[in-house]
Amino acid sequence: MVKNPQTPIARVSGRKIDLEGHRPTWAEIDLDALAANFRAVRARAGVGVMAVVKADAYGHGAVACARRLSEERADWFAVALPEEGLELRQAGVEEPVLCLEGFWEGQAGLCLQQRLTPAVYQREVAEALNRAASAAGVVADVHVKIDTGMGRLGVRVEDAAGFAVVMRELKSLRVDGLMTHFAAADDAAQEDFTGDQLARFGEASEAFAAQGHQPRFMHLANSAAIFACPPAHGTLVRPGGVLYGLWRDVLRPPPPQIGTKTPPPLRPVMSLRSRVTLLKTISSGETLGYGCTFKAARPTRVATLPIGYHDGYPRHLSNRGRVIVRGQFAPVVGRVSMDLTLVDVTDIAGVEVGDMVTLFGVDTDLSLPAEELAASTGTISYEITCGVSRRVPRIAVSRQPSAVS
Ligand SMILES: *Cc1c(COP(=O)(O)O)cnc(C)c1O
Repeated sequence: MVKNPQTPIARVSGRKIDLEGHRPTWAEIDLDALAANFRAVRARAGVGVMAVVKADAYGHGAVACARRLSEERADWFAVALPEEGLELRQAGVEEPVLCLEGFWEGQAGLCLQQRLTPAVYQREVAEALNRAASAAGVVADVHVKIDTGMGRLGVRVEDAAGFAVVMRELKSLRVDGLMTHFAAADDAAQEDFTGDQLARFGEASEAFAAQGHQPRFMHLANSAAIFACPPAHGTLVRPGGVLYGLWRDVLRPPPPQIGTKTPPPLRPVMSLRSRVTLLKTISSGETLGYGCTFKAARPTRVATLPIGYHDGYPRHLSNRGRVIVRGQFAPVVGRVSMDLTLVDVTDIAGVEVGDMVTLFGVDTDLSLPAEELAASTGTISYEITCGVSRRVPRIAVSRQPSAVS
């Protein structure tokens, strides 16, 4: 289905993957898992859900994910940048879209035209949007972002009252939302810090109420806070990672074992796959790959996979990662290179050229979570899925045929 290998999203029905003679390396996006995770989050939160699809839905493909989440009745979508919001609008997504970082100088018109609601937290930027809205004869909704402790973006709590006055004077803007972002909601040891953030948000809300603002939306909770901090649910929650089944490194308490057969309560949405393209047996004492870092201690059956670090498979997994082949784990041997990776399949019977290989995700009853790759490379699962490059086509699959048409 991938006519043009640059196409970031290809859709197929069912589980038959057809790459039409292109390199057989793809990221399978399980939209049914996404939908199931969404329902679990909504049940947990009990309030409206703003699905965070920034950064191309954490690498999963924002358009395909937003379309499915829209069928599941997501109330809002959140992106980082207005251009990400534009991509959703061009794909026909109609729900309200919040731009979490606000917008840049040249983008006030874009926000108005595309009905993108920006987060605002700077006077000059609010004034620029006010001028554009006034010139267009409209009143634009904005969400004011409060910095309660993250220290990245937002109005400082001590400046909230002053900002509420400024916003009251900008007649072409309406403060329809107040928001903040938690720094450590995933960490039980920092519960007090999270509690302080919640209290500061309360202060800022009062300051806005005192100036007559009546925002319909009060939102604070990211994935971690949805599960760990019910008092922070507000009127809308903002899950990202949990929708994509990335939870082991953001929800507490972390379960002790990863990479086991135990099905997680949230299902991984992305599975990174490839196929064996070459098989050989090397003799004991031979080495593999750049730097000759792997030396065979026995006659070794080696499979070559057409995927490398340019695709987002971390080079740090050289001689330490593992993949799933024929329902078993096979270790990565030698250095992961830019376009190719080698695995040892000596102990797996019957491996053939063309066999499917899972580099992370789920494969029948085995699970190899992105969190495991993250833990072995010193990062979090979000960076693993975000890091799967554009060279890898996303193939959305669903048992619900309408979802992938
Ligand atoms: C990315 C982001 C989220 C989602 O965070 P997760 O940990 O993925 O749930 C929520 N709110 C803001 C402001 C964000 O930047």
